[in-house]
Amino acid sequence: MVRSMLSVEPGTITVTGLDKSFGQHPVLRGIDLHVAPRTVVALLGPSGCGKTTLLRTIAGLERPDHGSIEVSGGVVVGPSAWVAPERRRIGMVFQDWALFPHLDVAGNVGYGLPRKQRTAERIEAALEIVDLGGLAKRMPGTLSGGQQQRVALARAIAPGPSVLLLDEPFSNLDSSLRVQVRSEIHQLLVEVGVTTVFVTHDQDEAFVLGDEVAVMFEGQIVQIAKPADLYAHPATPWVAGFVGDANLLDGSADGDVARTAIGAVPLLTATHGAVTVLLRPEELRLTPGGDTIVELIEYYGHDTIYLVQLAMGPLVRVRVGGAPQHRRGDLVTVAYAGPPTVWYPERGVETRGPRLSP
Ligand code: ATP
Repeated sequence: MVRSMLSVEPGTITVTGLDKSFGQHPVLRGIDLHVAPRTVVALLGPSGCGKTTLLRTIAGLERPDHGSIEVSGGVVVGPSAWVAPERRRIGMVFQDWALFPHLDVAGNVGYGLPRKQRTAERIEAALEIVDLGGLAKRMPGTLSGGQQQRVALARAIAPGPSVLLLDEPFSNLDSSLRVQVRSEIHQLLVEVGVTTVFVTHDQDEAFVLGDEVAVMFEGQIVQIAKPADLYAHPATPWVAGFVGDANLLDGSADGDVARTAIGAVPLLTATHGAVTVLLRPEELRLTPGGDTIVELIEYYGHDTIYLVQLAMGPLVRVRVGGAPQHRRGDLVTVAYAGPPTVWYPERGVETRGPRLSP
């Protein structure tokens, strides 16, 4: 009943042609991004690629040099438009949560509300949404890391924003708590159905929480896709390696098959000539005997990674479920057992930065 006091109307975000430099240093370069209602988009990229700057620009904490931003159909940034951050109906949760230690939970949640709306009922409604009903009088220091994170979320949700922006929301938590809090927040975002953009450099986090993942590199969005599409069809060799373990093997294509050092590999699209193909470690199989040597074994409990040296090729990573079935020094054969895979023009496969797909 209390919850119904607080309605979260899921909004949209449309970013077009956004450029931003700090001094001579371009940080955002021609960013286009559309976030549909109730969608969670993860901005994933290495440190310094501009993720936080993009989030802060959407929030109105940075002014872009060019480009426009619409929130729920209204232009908040444009050639002749500038809507102040507090009028954008955006909730933001920062990396460090930024709770005031001297204010109780209610004081922290109420802080973001205009005075007239700062009622106990409204604060309780926000706390109920994040499953912290009844904790209004507690001080932040007496709460667990996960609870503090949810207070920060309640504060962002309390004014009824149309979109939520989260900057590295789990980076303050140690690794065991991180997984638990991530699941809790995931459940909350699904329940509340609020349109969300969050920043992370952690692929697991992006894949678990994101309906879509936008991969950024040096101020650009290199690819945006649903996690499973991104993993199976990365646009560049660099993206392939950034979103998971990737073997990139040279071969020679003849239609929809490439001949490689491990044999025939089916291709997603037909081509001819020199190519580099993507082989995910879990799509490879090992059988005893052959001329490939097991160099290293890493056992993870649920599966085992083998690093194997091909007789006529590079080291390859192979992931097999369960406990190790081979030993170091064993001779084996590797074969590809996965679906048709993506290919890139051979050589100069650039794994350090993006290069656009063929
Ligand atoms: P991280 O994951 O490390 O937080 P990020 O992808 O979020 O990185 P940003 O924080 O957006 O990256 O920073 C992008 C670049 O812009 C970096 O080189 C950073 O040093 C620079 N930068 C960010 N804010 C400013 C600022 N206010 N003044 C000058 N340079 C800045």
